[in-house]
Amino acid sequence: MPAYKLAARQEQSSNTQIKIPSRNGEISIGTGSCTIIAGPCSVESRKKYLEIAMLIKDMGVHILRGGAYKPRTSPYSFAGLEEEGLKILAEAREITGLPVVTEVLDPRDLDKVMYYCDIIQIGSRNMQNFSLLKEVGRSRKPVILKRGLAATVEEWLLACEYILNAGNDKVILCERGIRTFEKMMRNTVDIAAVALVKELSHLPVLVDPSHGTGRRSLVAPVARAAIAAGADGLMIEVHQNPEQALSDGEQSLTPAMFASLAQDIRKMEQLQVS
Ligand code: PEP
Ligand code: MN
Repeated sequence: MPAYKLAARQEQSSNTQIKIPSRNGEISIGTGSCTIIAGPCSVESRKKYLEIAMLIKDMGVHILRGGAYKPRTSPYSFAGLEEEGLKILAEAREITGLPVVTEVLDPRDLDKVMYYCDIIQIGSRNMQNFSLLKEVGRSRKPVILKRGLAATVEEWLLACEYILNAGNDKVILCERGIRTFEKMMRNTVDIAAVALVKELSHLPVLVDPSHGTGRRSLVAPVARAAIAAGADGLMIEVHQNPEQALSDGEQSLTPAMFASLAQDIRKMEQLQVS
């Protein structure tokens, strides 16, 4: 048995399916079809968030995303609207009927994030924040655990094990690219890790080609590659006006680009190859 024993395939041979309640019916992640999470990097204002949510809600999105607590490299960059952002996410859920996911950076904000949102995200920078992992492990909310930017697959699965071991079995893994010597892209998306983690673990695996590549033009091809490699879903940044975005505009798709990607994904699903 590997060290990540609760996450291991040996522990459970069937794929774990994570159910997210929603007004439009339950969403299941890990069933073999592609779950699409989309929205802007950050919740920038009530008006802009509700506008993008309405623009994309019928384009094949299952879950809305948006950061309220943003981990920014520079302390001078926009760091999110915090609780006000959470309230806007909850309002978007009311209006669209779609569940919402947002990142938590600090255990002190966890209760608020759980109150307003349906899924908690642990970002790449916090993958090995063990006290945060144990804290979300004590909750019963589904958690998206992003791969650390310099984490091996084993370290990622062991980080996941902290959440499982604390009693929360609703963990969704997300490959978002790792740091390599390559400088033309923000990160290097480890597509093989998707197939590997599906082999090693029973948990669902998503891919985030937005943070993975940092370039709008590469998001769709890498998203298609992720699905071909067996990913259970995608996390995609979309902005109504990427040039004006307060964070990650270069990697954000326009709504039209997103609609076309979502259509491609549906077509790929019909191929049923594996
Ligand atoms: C995000 O999804 O908003 C994010 C900051 O991603 P990552 O943790 O993968 O950098
Ligand atoms: Mn982002």
